[in-house]
Amino acid sequence: MQYHESMIELVGNTPLVKLNNVTSTSGATVLAKVEYFNPGGSVKDRIAVRMIEAAERSGELRPGGVIVEPTSGNTGVGLAIVAQQKGYRCIFVCPDKVSTDKINVLRAYGAEVVVCPTAVAPEHPDSYYNVSDRLVRETPNAWKPDQYSNVNNPRSHYETTGPELWEQTEGRITHFVAGIGTGGTISGTGRYLKEVSDGRVRVVGADPEGSVYSGGSGRPYLVEGVGEDFWPSAYDREVTDEIIAVSDKDSFQMTRRLAKEEGLLVGGSCGMAVVAALRVAERLTPEDVVVVILPDSGRGYLSKVFNDDWISQHGFSEQPISEPTAGDVL
Ligand code: PMP
Repeated sequence: MQYHESMIELVGNTPLVKLNNVTSTSGATVLAKVEYFNPGGSVKDRIAVRMIEAAERSGELRPGGVIVEPTSGNTGVGLAIVAQQKGYRCIFVCPDKVSTDKINVLRAYGAEVVVCPTAVAPEHPDSYYNVSDRLVRETPNAWKPDQYSNVNNPRSHYETTGPELWEQTEGRITHFVAGIGTGGTISGTGRYLKEVSDGRVRVVGADPEGSVYSGGSGRPYLVEGVGEDFWPSAYDREVTDEIIAVSDKDSFQMTRRLAKEEGLLVGGSCGMAVVAALRVAERLTPEDVVVVILPDSGRGYLSKVFNDDWISQHGFSEQPISEPTAGDVL
């Protein structure tokens, strides 16, 4: 019989798909690693498995333990799936800019969710970092994975995403592009690819305009899951050769094009990363191979990125909305 022991076994080994229509014909080949094929629908399943299994080995997570984590959703889904399969309870803390769709998904997997205001400083008692710290202190048998500082976050990409890309491209990858949130994906994958290629692979970070990685102060932007207002230790600054800042508007327009023109219904951070990848690709030749990570699916953003009213309300429309003229049917 051909079957998997549980959904946990299906994490990783995601496909690489060529982008054909949003790319220009003269630049490099651009391949997308489509992480929504993971069972929880995002790249974060990879770190969930590794962080939990490492904590079991170290004794930090014991039978009957409670996993408490500040997460914008995707890490929560991964943790919730692995936790329910292994018999742990989960409590997640989310900023209020996260879509209700994402929060409902966490609850569907059996997790408890606490929602905190986005518009407060990280040191504020109600910030989602502080609320989660308080929950850890007050909950018996609690363990906080802390994806922002957990070495198993970048390590999971060093051990899985990096080797997968090297094998899938038969060593022909020349550039690796990823959005930076905790920095785990770019640091672990980038470090592996640099080591295995003797430093040949260039690593490019994509960042929302205003976030610290591209020199900002953390000004709010609307793309979810990427950019920060502080420097997490999971991010290894040595690995990135270049950071490209991308506006919300460019990110969301590209996200919509990926669905319409490439059959890829993905999240806003994917559009952001593809904009950066195309900027890299246009300086190169077709022999170069640019790989871009697409972290999650667009299903969690149907009421935002894929909602025409939301897009025009925020001024992200492709065309300026024209005033109705006499004769228009309203
Ligand atoms: N995109 C989305 C939608 C995410 O949830 C995350 C994780 N925060 C990222 C990109 C960035 O990944 P990383 O944390 O590994 O830098």
